[in-house]
Amino acid sequence: MNVHNPATAERLLSVDEALAAILARIPVLPAEPVLLDDALGRVLAEDVHADMAVPPFDNSAMDGYALIAADTEGATRERPAVLRVVADLPAGQVPDTPVRRGEAIRIMTGAPMPPGADAIVRVEDTERGEGTVRVRIAARPGRDVRFAGEDVRAGDLILPRGSYVRPAEVGMLAMLGRRHVQVVRRPRVAVLTTGDELVDVDEPVTPGKIRNVNLYSIMAQVRWCGGEPISLGVARDTVAELEAKVREGMTADLLVTSAGVSVGDYDVVKVVLDKLGHIDFWRVNMKPARPLAFGHLGSVPMFGLPGNPAASMVAFEEFVRPAILKMQGRQALRHATLQAVSDAALDNRGGRRSFVRGYLYRDGDGYRVRPAGPEGAGIMTAMVRANCFIVIPEDVARVAPGDTIGVELLDAPAAEAPAAAPLAASASGAEDCCD
Ligand code: AMP
Ligand code: MG
Repeated sequence: MNVHNPATAERLLSVDEALAAILARIPVLPAEPVLLDDALGRVLAEDVHADMAVPPFDNSAMDGYALIAADTEGATRERPAVLRVVADLPAGQVPDTPVRRGEAIRIMTGAPMPPGADAIVRVEDTERGEGTVRVRIAARPGRDVRFAGEDVRAGDLILPRGSYVRPAEVGMLAMLGRRHVQVVRRPRVAVLTTGDELVDVDEPVTPGKIRNVNLYSIMAQVRWCGGEPISLGVARDTVAELEAKVREGMTADLLVTSAGVSVGDYDVVKVVLDKLGHIDFWRVNMKPARPLAFGHLGSVPMFGLPGNPAASMVAFEEFVRPAILKMQGRQALRHATLQAVSDAALDNRGGRRSFVRGYLYRDGDGYRVRPAGPEGAGIMTAMVRANCFIVIPEDVARVAPGDTIGVELLDAPAAEAPAAAPLAASASGAEDCCD
C-alpha cells in the first residue's frame, strides 16, 4: 500500500526549521487557579503584587540588645558601655516599653524595634550583669536592624506573569499571602504506541515480539517536562483499531504517537492520520530521528515519533518537549547548552545535525564529554548512560579529540570521568539505515 500523496510529501527540513514550524502552531494553554501547594513547576498566569511591605515593621536581625547607638560611643571590650536592661522582647510580641538614654531591651531575632532604639548589638558582643548589660562595641545607628519594606515594598510587582514557579517563588507567594494563584494549565498528553510486534512489559516475549519501550519512555518524558501523560496503550496495525485510538487521543491537549512514520513503513498510521487531520510527514536533517510527523487532528496538535527507542527519545527532547513547555507558558523551550572538550573523535558524515548521546563530566574549571555508548537509533544503553546530547552541526564532518563542541544538557554534568565508558561512538554499519 502506498498512501504517499503530494499534500503530505516528505520535505527535508533543518532541525531549526522543523522546531520553528512546530512552535508557531502550538498554543499556550489557558489559566487555572491552583493552591499554593500545587504551584511548584507551573508558570504564573497573573501578575503578583505585594499586598503589604515585607518586613512589615522594623525588626531585629539578631538576638541581642536594642539600644541607642549614641550610648555606645567609644565602647570597647576593655571599656564597655553599661546600660540598664528594662525589658525582654521575644519575636511575635509588640514592645510596650520604649528605650531611653542609658537603657537597653533584650531582644530576639525578628522582634519589632522598640520605640527609641536605633541599633541592635548582638548578644556575643555583650555581657549580662545584674539588671544591666555591658556592651563591648560601639554601634552605628541602624546596625543589625531590618527595616520595613527592605525586601518588598507594598504595591510593587514582585512576580510578573510568565514567572516559572520554583521553590523560591513558592516561598515568595507565601510571603505575599497567596493561598491561590493563577497558573497556566498543564497539557494532557495522550501517548499511543503502534506496532504488531509490541508486547507489554509483563507479557511473554513470544517469537517475533519485543517489549513496548516507547509507551513508557514517552510517558515519562511527558511527565518529566510537566505534562500529564495519558496512556492509550498499543494500537495494532489495522485502520479500525488505530482510528479508534487516535480519536480517543483527540480529547487530549496533544497526541504523541510512536512508530509507523518512516518512509518504508507499512502505512496504516499514515492512512489514519491523513484521514483524521492535517499531518505533515517530514524528513528532518538530523541523526537519529529523521522521520517526524507533525500536524493537527481537529484542533489537537499531534506528533508522530520514530519507532526506534533512542530515536524516539531524541525526537521528543528536540521537538515535543519544547512544545509541551510552550503549552505551559514556559519561556526557555530548548535544553540548556554548554561547551565541552571532546575526549573522542566523532564522525558526522552526511551533513546532518547529529545528536550523540554523551557523557558530560567536570574537569577542573571546565567540562569534557565523550560518547555514552553505541550510536544506533535503537540502542537504549547509551541513552541510559547519557546526561547530554553532543550536538555536531550539519557542516562539521569530524570532531577531533580535544576539539570544543556544544552539548545539550539532559541532566546535571557528572562530577568525574566515567570508570569505563567507550571513547568512540561505535558507528555500526546499520546506523545509517536506521532513523
Ligand atoms: P518503525 O518506526 O515502525 O519503523 O519502527 C522502527 C523500529 O522501532 C522497529 O524495530 C520497531 O520494532 C521498533 N519499535 C516501534 N515501536 C516500538 C516501541 N513502542 N517500543 C520499542 N520498540 C519499538
Ligand atoms: Mg513499524
